Amino acid sequence: MIRISKSQIVPESLTETQTYDGEDVQERLLHDQHRKCYLCERTRTTDFEIEHHKSKKNFPESQQDWENLLLVCGYCNKRKASLFDNIVNPTVCNVEEEITQRIDFNRKMALFSAIVTEESHQKTAELLNRLFNGKKGLRKIKEELFFEYALSVINRFQKILNNYLMNPTTDNEQKVKDELQIDKEFLGFKYWIIRDNKFLYQIFHKDIIWNKQH
Ligand SMILES: [Zn+2]
Repeated sequence: MIRISKSQIVPESLTETQTYDGEDVQERLLHDQHRKCYLCERTRTTDFEIEHHKSKKNFPESQQDWENLLLVCGYCNKRKASLFDNIVNPTVCNVEEEITQRIDFNRKMALFSAIVTEESHQKTAELLNRLFNGKKGLRKIKEELFFEYALSVINRFQKILNNYLMNPTTDNEQKVKDELQIDKEFLGFKYWIIRDNKFLYQIFHKDIIWNKQH
């Protein structure tokens, strides 16, 4: 999960109709979020939904607020539901910096930890843990497939990094940079792989800034 940069102009259908998921809203969010679910960072082609950051159920008055709308995949939306209203808002927070996101390959687990001791950050880490590791650490079939996919992408990235470390040519450096483009998946995990390695951080720190603001 990383910071999202959203267009400032409010889509017309939000002010002119009673709907929150007009074509213009969908189009704008797909563009702003580079077709990725803001929670799991998988690229979505057709399986996307317009999500209320603060749920419709508990915050009906915010249903049509542009600030409250984000693009999410069906998998994440179903699991977030109205149970996680108080997670960080990725449009105003450098999420990747404030929540560590790591894969433990031996234990086949994703590890999330809030560096900032605010409830919203704790809740976000809890939700991410739920998405990647299942309920109480037990994954159902869909959740296992979801995790296996994340593992395969991170494994591939790790191989590209290892190639670069063994043979640091310009060509191999570019291959790493390509994997860090903003439209690529799982950047939150990739961020911490780079951050955790002094040498890699020195070379690629400019490639892991994305939407970040200070
Ligand atoms: Zn998702």
